[in-house]
Amino acid sequence: MADDERNSGAAAEASPLSDLATAVPDGQLRLAYQPILSLDTLQVVGVEALIRWQHPARGLVPPAEFIPVAEHSGLIVDIGAWVLLEACRQAAAWAELNPGAHELHMSVNVSARQMAPASGLVEAVQNALTQSGLDPSMLGVEVTESALTNDPEAALRVVNELKELNIQVAVDDFGTGGSTWDDLSRFPVDALKIDRSFVSGLGGSDDDAMVVRSIIDLAKDLGILTIAEGIETRGQLAALQGYGCGYGQGYLWSPGRPAADLGPTLFQSAADSGRR
Ligand code: C2E
Ligand code: MG
Ligand code: MG
Repeated sequence: MADDERNSGAAAEASPLSDLATAVPDGQLRLAYQPILSLDTLQVVGVEALIRWQHPARGLVPPAEFIPVAEHSGLIVDIGAWVLLEACRQAAAWAELNPGAHELHMSVNVSARQMAPASGLVEAVQNALTQSGLDPSMLGVEVTESALTNDPEAALRVVNELKELNIQVAVDDFGTGGSTWDDLSRFPVDALKIDRSFVSGLGGSDDDAMVVRSIIDLAKDLGILTIAEGIETRGQLAALQGYGCGYGQGYLWSPGRPAADLGPTLFQSAADSGRR
């Protein structure tokens, strides 16, 4: 692709920096929450927080269109801190609204730039936990492979500090980054999230099935969790259950939705939660 073409692409043109810089102070950012289920019991065990930008002129802007701009400009640091606090407050609010119900784990995406030691991620997490009162064990961050392997020494320090806070760390989009397990094995992560591109091939592509199985086997050897992304069909669900994948999320149950729209469905019984 020519540079001109790339620069005129939606991501570059549609997200002027000046607009994005005011998104946090103007209260234009929103979080959608996608349920994460145990594939064993089909009970909702947690949610993933997914950011959206409610732009005054453009409507709801998906993260792919502005997170890269936010990363590039450094605005991701403020945006990321907002996401952490908002997500922790929501998790604490759900726990308070539903006394006696099982607590929901809250998973927050963190970008490569936020993993740089000078970005203040650890402080932002600490601040969000203190201000919300959320139990740290109910919070996790999702970090992509490349965010870990770009500058492994620096990332390892940050991951270790996050683990000292007693929060979970998951590797997002696992299998897409081209890194070997040797590259990743020294990071004390709690879970691997199997990328949607492999899950969508289940039932059709033997190659995808093989990748999915090997990720699950690897995680089992390491004693860590597996979470499959983008489960859309009962066939994919059955295959993942057969391979022993622990957890999953996807349109089969729900896309990301505002907290108010999820409500009691998060706490429904195992018998009901297999339905869309
Ligand atoms: P991700 O963390 O891998 O999130 C999963 C994406 O897959 C979400 O897209 C979700 O809506 C979508 N998805 C979930 N289930 C299905 C399914 O069954 N079928 C299909 N076709 N898609 C499904 P979304 O919300 O557009 O987010 C895209 C990416 O943006 C995320 O990928 C994550 O990398 C990034 N992102 C989202 N929120 C944040 C945030 O707060 N901070 C940062 N740094 N990045 C974020
Ligand atoms: Mg994620
Ligand atoms: Mg992912």
